[in-house]
Amino acid sequence: MEKKYTGGRAARFFKKNLYYMIIIVATLAIGLAVVLSLTLGRKPALPADSIPSDLVNTKPAEMLAPVDAAFTVAKLFADDRLIWSETLRLFETHQGIDIQAPAGTAVVAALDGTVVRVANVPLEGYVVEIRHSDSLKTVYKSLGSDILVTEGQTVARGARIGSVADTMTYEIAEGPHLHFEVVEAGALKDPGLYIAAYK
Ligand SMILES: [Zn+2]
Repeated sequence: MEKKYTGGRAARFFKKNLYYMIIIVATLAIGLAVVLSLTLGRKPALPADSIPSDLVNTKPAEMLAPVDAAFTVAKLFADDRLIWSETLRLFETHQGIDIQAPAGTAVVAALDGTVVRVANVPLEGYVVEIRHSDSLKTVYKSLGSDILVTEGQTVARGARIGSVADTMTYEIAEGPHLHFEVVEAGALKDPGLYIAAYK
C-alpha cells in the first residue's frame, strides 16, 4: 500500500520554504558572529614587535621605559595579590616591576626631574630616586655601582643614570634586573599605568 505523506500544515510549510529558512538562519548566525567578534574581540591589533623601544604612555605622565622596553618584564606590580619570590621562597606582594636585562644595560630617567637620592642600601642594592613633581617620583633599584648622577642633579627624560646589575639581594635569584617603582602622592603605583610596555 502506498504510503502517503501525512504531515501537517506546518511540516509542509517547512518543506516548501526550507531554502529560505536556511538562508535566514545562516544570515542570523553570521550577524551574531559579527556582533560577538566586535564586542568580545575589541583589543588593539598592534603587534608587539611594532611598538617602538622608547614606548611611552600619555596617562598620566609620559614616562619612558627606564630600560629598553624590548627586555623581559620578569615580575609585574602586585600590591593586592601575592606572587612567588624565588629568592625568599615564599609568596609576597611586589611594589614595582622587574625588568631583566644583561648586566651593564643602560638605565635611563623615565621623566625630567631632580635626583633626590643616590644610595647603596642593604637588600635593595644601589638605588636612585628622581623627583618629577611635588607628587611624582620614580625609584630605580638593583643598579650597578657605576651610577652616573649625584643628588641634587637635574636629569632629562631618557638620560642615562646607571646600569642594570644584580645588587638587590632581596631579589638576587632573578639575576641582573632593574626593580623600578613609581610613587605618586606618597603611594606606590603600578608602573604599567605610566608606561604602556609594562601593562
Ligand atoms: Zn622587584
